[in-house]
Amino acid sequence: MPHLSDKFGRSIHDLRISITDRCNYRCVYCRTGTNGAAFAELPFADYLRMARILVALGITKIRLTGGEPLLRKGIVEFVRDLSSLRTTTGDAPEIALTTNGHLLAEIARPLKDAGLDRVTVSMDAVDPDRFARITRVPNGFDNVLAGVRAARRVGLDPVKVNCVLLRGFNEDQIIPFGMFAREEGVVVRFIEFMPLEEDRVWTPGIVVTLDEIVTRMSEYKPLVEISHHQSETARRYVFEDGVGEIGIIAPVSHPFCGHCSRIRITSDGKIRTCLFSLWDHDLYELMRRGTSDEKLADFIVSVIEKKEERHHIGEPGFVPASRTMVHIGG
Ligand code: SAM
Repeated sequence: MPHLSDKFGRSIHDLRISITDRCNYRCVYCRTGTNGAAFAELPFADYLRMARILVALGITKIRLTGGEPLLRKGIVEFVRDLSSLRTTTGDAPEIALTTNGHLLAEIARPLKDAGLDRVTVSMDAVDPDRFARITRVPNGFDNVLAGVRAARRVGLDPVKVNCVLLRGFNEDQIIPFGMFAREEGVVVRFIEFMPLEEDRVWTPGIVVTLDEIVTRMSEYKPLVEISHHQSETARRYVFEDGVGEIGIIAPVSHPFCGHCSRIRITSDGKIRTCLFSLWDHDLYELMRRGTSDEKLADFIVSVIEKKEERHHIGEPGFVPASRTMVHIGG
């Protein structure tokens, strides 16, 4: 049975495909303020071929991301094609989407019908004015809230809401997000801010850490930690009364590289073995030159073997990744 693993023995079964690096939001901690693309987009048929080869090698879960993936016309058909792939155990791969939610309300039902299993919506404030200041887009909050509700209504379950906290900017949103999780029936996950932004403003001091989030949230209501799967990035908590789940993804204060199961394909068809990789592996260029599926599979296996052991955030001599988050696919 094919099985992808790296030289540290980690099994690789999660694939993220960025289908565009364009975005309709310009979040202050991510973008410089422009929303243009820096890299090419490929036809969906090319991503599909890559995904087919990777699924045959052992990938079981595919997440579509960007940039903003819902900006790409044809995403529903792409999800349908991906869901017709079969993993090495004969099942459909699990298909997930990460989106800012701005365009989600209309398309949630067609995506679900096409085979989308789950959605994660990024939302960094539950206060509409703060939301506009972070995204630099007026009146986005109502669209995103409508998207979250539509996703729940059509059964994209569970709906996860990801929030990046920045000290002095939106850390006061911790408890409001706890309330939001309980009221809206979504899993709210806080992500520690990583040095992957275009403006290079990251400092350790800006990061609101897992411990701080748990302490602050517990002032609202006590949290109980629940078990999480080893390759799951989030530590999971429920409120003591069982209503509302919170996750915390803590790559800075509690790195989980030892259990990483991911690789990424960028919108222009490069493989990245780590968010913090210093170089890409050009799968698309090989395809363009007419390489066979077998040879592409050999290339993928050899690239994955060389996956980095861990990131070096916060260490002396840290070298920034060769691309920023929006151009990799978060
Ligand atoms: N446009 C989609 C969205 O908003 O979810 C997908 C792409 S976005 C880059 C994916 C996720 O990465 C978002 O949840 C965003 O908040 C997060 N993100 C962006 N820059 C980050 C950083 N430097 N550290 C941690 N998370 C970051």
